[in-house]
Amino acid sequence: MAKQVLVSGGAGFIGSHVTVELVQAGFDVVVADNFSNCDKTCYEGVCKILGCRPPLVEMDFCDLAAVERLFADYQIDAVIHFAAYKAVGESVAEPILYYKNNLLSFLNLLEVARRKGCNVLFSSSATVYGETDVLPVTEQSPRQPATSPYGNTKQICEDILRDSVKAYPGIKGIALRYFNPIGAHPSALIGELPRGVPNNLVPFITQTAIGKRECLSIFGNDYPTPDGTCQRDYIDIVDLARAHVCAVARMLDGKMEEPYEIYNVGTGRPISVLELVNAFEKVNGVKLNWKYAPRRPGDVTAIWADPTLANEKLGWKATRTVEETLASAWAWEKHLAGE
Ligand code: UDP
Repeated sequence: MAKQVLVSGGAGFIGSHVTVELVQAGFDVVVADNFSNCDKTCYEGVCKILGCRPPLVEMDFCDLAAVERLFADYQIDAVIHFAAYKAVGESVAEPILYYKNNLLSFLNLLEVARRKGCNVLFSSSATVYGETDVLPVTEQSPRQPATSPYGNTKQICEDILRDSVKAYPGIKGIALRYFNPIGAHPSALIGELPRGVPNNLVPFITQTAIGKRECLSIFGNDYPTPDGTCQRDYIDIVDLARAHVCAVARMLDGKMEEPYEIYNVGTGRPISVLELVNAFEKVNGVKLNWKYAPRRPGDVTAIWADPTLANEKLGWKATRTVEETLASAWAWEKHLAGE
């Protein structure tokens, strides 16, 4: 019988891509979402891609009774937890909202998961590494104090998971630290749907290219990098989703070597903002209106992953080129525009 995976926040950008890859790999998936930060567009896209409708439960993980009902209604073998707020700036303005939502939902999930002996995969972030001179970063690189409540919730949830699997031997946990997820599904039926003005680079690029935004600001050209703009490790969303399939399989097949494992999910390849902009223009044959602007407060100069551990232990590797990924992001933007 197929193993059943609960994907909390499964209707969002990453969750919807993970749902597709899990089902295509032979898992049954239960999608749970409260639709606080997305509509049903991506869930419907997932159903179209798969030709079936994974069960969808509308619920809030801050409601313990609802989490208990969910686990009573479905035989869940593993959980992937995405249900969280994710806007850095908003978290600075509304710290209580962020701590309450992101911590309580995870605690509720863990409380029930541990009673059921169900392993948990937590979606963490490379933001936990902060600014560092030693690049690329490995999982052993020290975490830096978080610079936002959002980043702090990622660190605290990692610690909660680490302490919980230590205390409760019936469950195991994996944290995946994402670098910069970009792009969309090759079908152009699911992708990123930012609310309002995008904070992230690639949605801002595609919205500028389609004419929704006038001009892209490149934040800072005086960084100590080869072209003066920041460097990041941009990871294709489908590649990222596949890392979850590998991690869940490792959990369910009893292959974990430690009760708590951490993996970087990145390409190992630094790309500057300017390089990304140039690559987008070239692969899509569009001219982008952009200008240099002052540095954005809080940005680190450069960060990229050493993905060796994920390559070796998860048997996972990023496969799509940045050109393919940027083409998929553009196809998605055009799909949204009805083109
Ligand atoms: N960036 C930019 N203009 C934008 C948005 C982002 O120049 O409108 C830069 C940002 O300064 C950083 C990189 O793009 O160097 C990636 O930013 P993003 O917000 O996508 O991800 P982050 O690395 O901050 O998580």
